[in-house]
Amino acid sequence: MSQSEDNLPPTASLTNHDRKPIHIPGSIQPHGVLLALNPQLDILQVSNNTQDFFGKSPQELLGQPLTSLLEAQQVEAIRQCWLKNIGIYTTYKVAIHTLYDERYFDCIVHRIADALIVELEPIESISEVSFLSFHALVSEAIADIQRTSNLTEFLHLVAIQVRQITAFDRVMVYQFDRTGAGAVVAEAKREDLPPYLGLHYPATDIPESARNLYQRSWLRFVPNLTGQPVKLVPIENPITQQPLDLSFSVLRSVDSCCIEYYQNMGVTGILVIALMQNQQLWGLISCHHETPKHLSSELRQICEFLGRIVSLELRHKVNQLELDYQVKLQSLQSEFIESISQADNFSDALIKPELRLLDVVSASGAAVCLDNEITLVGTTPEIDQVRALIEWAETQVKDNLFSSDSLPQIYPESVAFKDTASGLLLLRISQVRRYYILWFRPEVMQTVNWAGNPNEAIQVAEVDGTLTWSPRKSFAKWQETVQLTSLAWKQCELDNAIALRNAIVGIVLSKADELAKINSDLERSNRELASFAYAASHDLKEPLRGIYNYSTILLEDYAQILDADGLECLETVVTLSVRMETLINALLRLAQLGQAQLRQQATNLNELLNQLIDVFRASRQDSQHFDIRIPRPLPTVECDSVLVNEVFSNLINNAFKYNDKTEQWVEIGYLDSPELHKKRQTPEPPVFYVRDNGIGIPQHHLETIFRLFKRLHSQEKYGGGVGAGLAIVKKIIELHNGRIWVESTIGVGSTFYFTLE
Ligand code: ADP
Repeated sequence: MSQSEDNLPPTASLTNHDRKPIHIPGSIQPHGVLLALNPQLDILQVSNNTQDFFGKSPQELLGQPLTSLLEAQQVEAIRQCWLKNIGIYTTYKVAIHTLYDERYFDCIVHRIADALIVELEPIESISEVSFLSFHALVSEAIADIQRTSNLTEFLHLVAIQVRQITAFDRVMVYQFDRTGAGAVVAEAKREDLPPYLGLHYPATDIPESARNLYQRSWLRFVPNLTGQPVKLVPIENPITQQPLDLSFSVLRSVDSCCIEYYQNMGVTGILVIALMQNQQLWGLISCHHETPKHLSSELRQICEFLGRIVSLELRHKVNQLELDYQVKLQSLQSEFIESISQADNFSDALIKPELRLLDVVSASGAAVCLDNEITLVGTTPEIDQVRALIEWAETQVKDNLFSSDSLPQIYPESVAFKDTASGLLLLRISQVRRYYILWFRPEVMQTVNWAGNPNEAIQVAEVDGTLTWSPRKSFAKWQETVQLTSLAWKQCELDNAIALRNAIVGIVLSKADELAKINSDLERSNRELASFAYAASHDLKEPLRGIYNYSTILLEDYAQILDADGLECLETVVTLSVRMETLINALLRLAQLGQAQLRQQATNLNELLNQLIDVFRASRQDSQHFDIRIPRPLPTVECDSVLVNEVFSNLINNAFKYNDKTEQWVEIGYLDSPELHKKRQTPEPPVFYVRDNGIGIPQHHLETIFRLFKRLHSQEKYGGGVGAGLAIVKKIIELHNGRIWVESTIGVGSTFYFTLE
């Protein structure tokens, strides 16, 4: 992997203070020389290897002007670096006259707060690398990587190009996740080396302080990890008495912990290039070499340039990836919304077909809660668990949304169903109606290929009472399960959920509007129909009466001048007009009921029935045969007593009319509250019944008998009738918001049930 400089302790008890910060090691790598200068360009500090490179000891150089080492013209150029921003490099080629000969160096200068740092790396000759060769190297690489269409391919090509330019044994692209841990996402390597592609590394391997340094300086180059660090002389800046800040130093020495880390991996030379996205460290291009590996400053500059280009392109590629996903979500969403808006039943449309609801936020399970009814889709917790979860989550909702990718941490009960719902996205559609959609994601349970045991990233050993640091030894594949967390919900998924809510609310509202309009249209046409029926039947009665009267006059006064056929015809006219009047009366009654206002009052049904039965018996001569049973006293109910009287009267009449038994009986009673209402503890209206032992009604007529003018028999049978009684009964029951139905067995009898809400 990359490098582990400034590894932090895994235990909270150890603080940064326990370790020497990595940017002030007080030493540099041995392949170059460092000079720290004051604003007058006097030498304040030097690395303790000047003798080897210049033939001059540190003591000979300290306190001297830079002109004692470099030519005046070069010194003047370096002086200009004071005008530059902190951490900006300027590179020169310089020649230094030593005791014996002239030597050439790459001179890399940058400013820090209170000093100018000059770093010198020996080179063969002073000739400049031509712009053309630089351009040729870079432009080909850039053209290649820009041609790639997706992120994976792009990163793979980046690794290949960087390896071609640098000739390192292994080049990897390493990507950080939001926790600071990361994985090798692309690799180009010497064929005989084992692959690291796909390996994950814990956050402790590249702790925050190291990541911060990469954010400031894009490149880290260590040609030989085994080289002995060279101390600065003096170790502290003589003016500020502070250790020299080597944050931007290209020669900065390497943390001993980091050296061991790499040696465990069999690495000697490293180059690391930062990859930035939106001013954040997105990842690293990490180059490893088994043996010491030198890279000229020009090639390093090319690498840094490439890093910057890749970072720019990376933003584009990552954005593209996210954009593609967002576009996919949005098109799924609009299809979904369209089908909901066209559906007759929007709650059904939500859950069918199943996958669609899951796809809109890439979930593996969902629950739709409409009032008390919960429907599960896909892989979800049990329904009771979902119900309890909603009750808890209701208190967490903000702006109609609640989401978590680690539900068990905030709702411990969810540990029981972590496999299906370690992640929750809850959308409130309506508070009043308790409408919710919940989406679930399982515990990641993805088996991560950790490079070594992440729990042993750093070993802390106490030697002579002081803490020492050593990186973990094992780099074998280590599998660790990410516990109690799901994949994170993306912002675009949350946005999609909210958009879905707005659409549903819109659809429901417009459906409600539509329904209200249909209702009022219906009411109006019902009213019109009722008044039409009333007027028509009322007006028909008058001419009918005329027909009847004149026919009777003809029969009474002119019977002698008509023959037998004529008389029969006239009698038929009279009978038909009587029958027609009955029909019109029935129609009129029904029309009246359509416009009737209920006069509700507490009605003792026992009293009502007693009177009714008295009248009934009085109106029949053979009343002694009528057996009317009321097994237990009936309740007192709120109803229109006149109308309910009509209901009982019709039903009792029919019960005896359609009965051919010698021992006829009718039983009137009511049923106990059904179980459901007992459970809910809501008062349930009693179900009344009128039962007889009559002729019964065929199964397929159990509903049709309630239609107006529907009779099952010919005129003459069972005492005649026009088939309006049950239609009137039904209308009255409906006026009371009740229901009527019948159960019957041919030859045994019928039972009419009804309720009065
Ligand atoms: P009507 O009695 O005037 O014909 P109803 O509307 O009261 O009209 O009844 C419609 C039809 O339902 C009747 O013609 C009869 O065939 C059937 N019906 C009604 N009540 C009973 C009953 N208790 N038993 C058997 N048949 C019945």
